[in-house]
This record gives sequence, C-alpha cells and structure tokens, in this order.
Amino acid sequence: MKNKSFLIIGGGIAGLTAAIALQQLGLDVKVYERFPEIRPAGAGIMIAPNALRALARLGLDKAVQKQGYVSPRGIAILNKQGSVLSEISTSSQQYSTVSIHRAELHQILLSALRPGTVIFGKACSDTNQDEDGVTVTFADQTEVSGDYLLAADGIHSVVRKKLFPSIKLRYSGYTCWRGVAPCWPDSGENSQFTETWAAQGRFGVIPLTNERTYWYALVNGPSGDKRYAEYRIKDIIQIFEGYHSPVAQVLSRTPDDKMIHNDIFDLETPEQFISGRSLLLGDAGHAITPNLGQGACQAIEDALELARCFIQHSTVELAYRAFEMRRIERVRAISQLSLKVGKIAQLDNPLLCGLRNSVMRLTPASLQNKQVSNLFHVEF
Ligand SMILES: Cc1cc2nc3c(=O)[nH]c(=O)nc-3n(C[C@H](O)[C@H](O)[C@H](O)COP(=O)(O)OP(=O)(O)OC[C@H]3O[C@@H](n4cnc5c(N)ncnc54)[C@H](O)[C@@H]3O)c2cc1C
Repeated sequence: MKNKSFLIIGGGIAGLTAAIALQQLGLDVKVYERFPEIRPAGAGIMIAPNALRALARLGLDKAVQKQGYVSPRGIAILNKQGSVLSEISTSSQQYSTVSIHRAELHQILLSALRPGTVIFGKACSDTNQDEDGVTVTFADQTEVSGDYLLAADGIHSVVRKKLFPSIKLRYSGYTCWRGVAPCWPDSGENSQFTETWAAQGRFGVIPLTNERTYWYALVNGPSGDKRYAEYRIKDIIQIFEGYHSPVAQVLSRTPDDKMIHNDIFDLETPEQFISGRSLLLGDAGHAITPNLGQGACQAIEDALELARCFIQHSTVELAYRAFEMRRIERVRAISQLSLKVGKIAQLDNPLLCGLRNSVMRLTPASLQNKQVSNLFHVEF
C-alpha cells in the first residue's frame, strides 16, 4: 500500500481528517479543495466525546479542547420559558463535548498535514476509473491521476452523483439559520449548551471561546422557499419572540451578513460506499440530519476506521470492504435515531408539544443517558 497514491476530493472535516490519518500511516495523499482557501465564514460546530476519542488517536484532541469551549455539563433541553426538560450529560465519558468555530477546527486539521498536501482552488467536475487507476478532472480543465480516490466532497458530492446516481437527498421538513454573536450568554464563561424546543421552532445557544456564542434556529417549512433565504436577523427575532433569555440577545448582536441559511437534508439510508477504486467518506457517503450533532463526528470516525482497516488488511480493496462493513451499520443507526429526534424536537402542535414536554420531564435521566452513552462509546 505504501507505494499507492490516494486522491482526496474535498478539504472539509472528512477530507482533512482522512488525509491526516493516512499520512500518519506513511501513505501518499493529496487533497483537492474547490475553494481558494479556508473560508473564515461559517458557524460553530459541536465535537462530541466519540469524535474527541478519534481525534486523540491523531494527537489532535488537546488542540481542539484548547481552541474550543469545553461544555461544563453536557447539553440541556429547555422549554420556551427556559425550564429544563432534560439534560444530556457527558459526565460518564472520557471527554466532554467541545464547541468550536468551524474555521478554527479546519485550521487545526490543516496544520496537522504536511505543507502542500492540500491543493486549493481545484473543483472536481468529473472522475473516471479503470483497472490501472483513477483520473480526476477539474473545472479549470486540468487533470490528475492516482491509484485510489476518496470522495469527501460533502452532501452534494459530485463524485457520489457520478458513481451512485440513484442515491437521493431527502428533505427533513425543516430549515435552519445559524450565526455567531460576539457575546456570551448571560451566565458568561460557565454557560451550558442549551437547545430550546417549542412550537414556533428549535433554538440552540452554544458558547464558543473568546466571548462568542454560536446559535442555530430550526423551523418547519417547505424546502427551497425563497422567503426563508431572504430572512434577516429581525425576521428570526420575530419567529422566536417570547423565548427565554438570551435568545433575543444573541440574535440582536449578530450581523445580518454573518447569518447562514440552509434547508436540512440527509441522504437515503446508505447501502454502499465503494465503487471500484473509489470510496465515499463523510457527508458524501452518509449525510445525516444535525439533530444529534453527529455528522462531522461520523466523518472523523470514518477517517480513523479507514486507517485501522489499512493497518489490518494487505490490500486497499480488502481494507475498503472492511471499512464499508464496519461503518454502514453505525452510520445507519445514527442517521435513523437523528431523524427520530428531529421529528420529536420539531413538533409544532402546541398540545403535542405539551405532552412531549411532560414525558421528557418524567423520563429518568439514566434512561436518556444510556442511549447517549451508546452513541458516544466507540473504540478505535
Ligand atoms: C445546521 C447544521 C449543524 C450541524 N452541526 C453539527 C455539529 O454540531 N456536530 C457535528 O458533528 N456535525 C454537525 N453538522 C454536520 C456537519 O456539518 C457535516 O456532517 C460535516 O461538515 C461533514 O463534513 P464533510 O467533510 O463530509 O463535508 P463538508 O463539510 O461539506 O466538506 C466538503 C468539502 O468538499 C469541498 N467540495 C465540495 N465539492 C467539491 C468539488 N466538486 N471539488 C472539490 N472540493 C469540493 C467543499 O468546499 C468542502 O470543503 C451540522 C450540519 C448542519 C447542516
């Protein structure tokens, strides 16, 4: 395997982490990223204990914890008035969840690679493969050839569309706005991660380092609605009127041009990640709804599992097959659980919301934490 070359398409969390893991095995990797540089735009992200364990194997857990905000007490689910419905604790885990600005996470990953590993400004437009190798064509009409291809080009993957044209995106029924406010929530540096569930929509308040707060807002609605794409901060404030503090505060401190909007999609249940010499990684293979904050965490797990398969198997083909077998079951289970959580969290009938909240208050914490424990527990 040492004399084989691996071309990775996409320099996101999946592509960069896979490149680090394979480079640490002494393999020849190059990453091709469509953007000319790491974009400073983007919101925050939560890195859960399972992904921190994986990052520890790459020697990167400390850097992420140092740059990020380590959750003091897991995440609390609140009602509109701010009363606790449920608490998801990470106290039994080796790591607490960390929130971090995406651009800062990307910078940490990029710094762990040998200079020149990532080639920016290269948008893949086509790929071809035969028994001798793979060829990637870029939008600038240049080409590159290698032995194997790892497609880490995200949920709208060009590579997946070519290799698996029948796999479809699925709209969740909700749309999302995200932003970063230059302030901490009222309780300052000891603030807990919170998500508020109520009939108008779901709102997350996640402190970041350097007195910043990452927030997200999810509202039920049709996909591709032009009105949503044009919403400004004042419109989001209106939707979440009457929600407890600091919802209005963090929204009003966010500049309009720092707000991102996306409809939420996932991929139909993944059946296959391999096509010949090509393998799908991260969202390209198994985009999941963000309800468990596990999409990027699973991309990081992919990288570690792939490295493990390369260590355990004598050929790339055998390693790919072992990877597919091990990963499909886990990402499928997480994808299905995430969809279920989304359905419950996005209830918009006030009567059903009241019922849900009562059930949540009565559910023993031990039962909730058992499910989470299965999610967070993974060995590499
Ligand atoms: C609202 C929201 C909140 C989320 N919150 C969390 C969270 O808290 N925790 C968590 O774990 N996950 C979260 N996720 C999921 C997470 O964002 C994704 O799972 C993760 O970004 C996937 O990483 P990736 O590298 O596979 O894809 P991406 O992050 O999409 O990266 C793909 C990369 O490929 C590049 N690319 C695309 N096309 C091409 C091309 N043709 N040629 C070359 N390069 C290309 C892109 O520019 C990009 O750099 C969230 C998702 C959403 C929508």
